[in-house]
Amino acid sequence: MGYDNNNIFAKILRGEMPAVKVYEDDATLAFLDVMPQAPGHTLVIPKVGAENLYDLPVEAGAAVFRTVQKLAPAVRDAMGADGIMLNQFNGPAAGQTVFHFHVHIVPRFDDVPLRRHSGQMEDSALLEEQAEKIRARL
Ligand code: 5GP
Repeated sequence: MGYDNNNIFAKILRGEMPAVKVYEDDATLAFLDVMPQAPGHTLVIPKVGAENLYDLPVEAGAAVFRTVQKLAPAVRDAMGADGIMLNQFNGPAAGQTVFHFHVHIVPRFDDVPLRRHSGQMEDSALLEEQAEKIRARL
């Protein structure tokens, strides 16, 4: 099989699909999940075409984690979250649905259950509002 250049995140990277972006540098892009499991659910992706952890170059993994560490406190504070959960899925059996490596930054709130993974589309105006709050803390 190998990496499919037409996956949705590759299209977002090429600017062929819209995304509510919160951060970008030479090696990574971060944007809000359109079907968030919690308010402020953010995805961080490398700019290289890697399907999952197994084919991700080490340098790209380091760059992704650098961005995750930069964003996590900003997402937490912007959303007023009690905690931050990181998720990263490899293969359909593990829950991966988009085959471009990504790390989920998911805000958690005391006693609030997560919404369903890949559940409901969020209102785009609300996503823009949340992204603005996150960007303001970077
Ligand atoms: P996975 O299951 O592969 O770890 O997660 C893929 C994530 O991407 C899901 O949480 C899903 O809601 C999100 N997602 C799927 N399609 C799009 C899209 O077109 N744009 C954005 N921003 N997120 C997407």
